[in-house]
This record gives sequence, structure tokens and C-alpha cells, in this order.
Amino acid sequence: MENCLFCKIANGDIPSNKAYEDDTVLSFHDIEPQAPVHVLIVPKKHYTSIMDIGASDAALLSHMIEVAQQLARELNISDDGFRLVVNTGENGGQSVPHLHIHLLGGRKFGWPAG
Ligand code: AMP
Ligand code: ZN
Repeated sequence: MENCLFCKIANGDIPSNKAYEDDTVLSFHDIEPQAPVHVLIVPKKHYTSIMDIGASDAALLSHMIEVAQQLARELNISDDGFRLVVNTGENGGQSVPHLHIHLLGGRKFGWPAG
């Protein structure tokens, strides 16, 4: 989609610090990390939010979770634990309207979320 930041990162128009890439998914380190490990897992296809995901996207979503698991192992946060976050819409604090999963780790997180 035109003028979408993460579409531009996914197609290489804007550089990113890549953590993982395949045909359908890209992961890169967050530009403003909120934890020692903070990467974003992004589908290359544009979905504005998790609300755009349907039954036909089940394989993509489970693949994104597999990528999160692989990155958690590679970035050494799988044993101590981590947090996956999908901010959605205004109240959810979503600032980039292209679906992404935050993988955060390397410190302890509070609950409930702020
Ligand atoms: P959200 O607020 O859930 O939509 O998350 C968007 C995230 O994208 C934030 O954590 C930003 O720091 C991050 N971000 C914004 N621009 C970039 C960029 N050019 N490269 C990497 N991360 C970015
Ligand atoms: Zn997009």
C-alpha cells in the first residue's frame, strides 16, 4: 500500500535493521526499543490491523508466531520469557497502521499494561 511505512520497509524502500526475512514475513529491530530485545514481526502483505485477519490468513498468522518463537530462541529470551503485543487502533496505542507483532524481552514487564 502506498504511503505505508511498513510496506516501504517490507519492499526495501526504507532500510531497517533486519532480524529475519522470508517470502511472506519480515522482522526488524524497533527504532525506539522499549526493552533490551524489541523486534517487530510484520507480514509483507498490507493488513491495517489484526481486525483485517480472517480464516484464510490462519497460515500466515501461525507462521508469524513461529517466527516469533524462532527469534525468541535466537535472541536468548525464550528461557526467561517475553511478551508478544499487537496494539490495535487508537485505544490500543497502534501508531503504525500495518499489522505487526512486537516481541519484547530481556527485562520483566508489569501487568496490567499501562
Ligand atoms: P505501534 O505503536 O504498536 O503501532 O508500533 C509501531 C512501532 O514501530 C513503534 O514501536 C515504533 O518505535 C516502531 N517504528 C516506527 N518507525 C520505525 C522504523 N522506521 N523502523 C523500525 N521501527 C519503527
Ligand atoms: Zn502496509
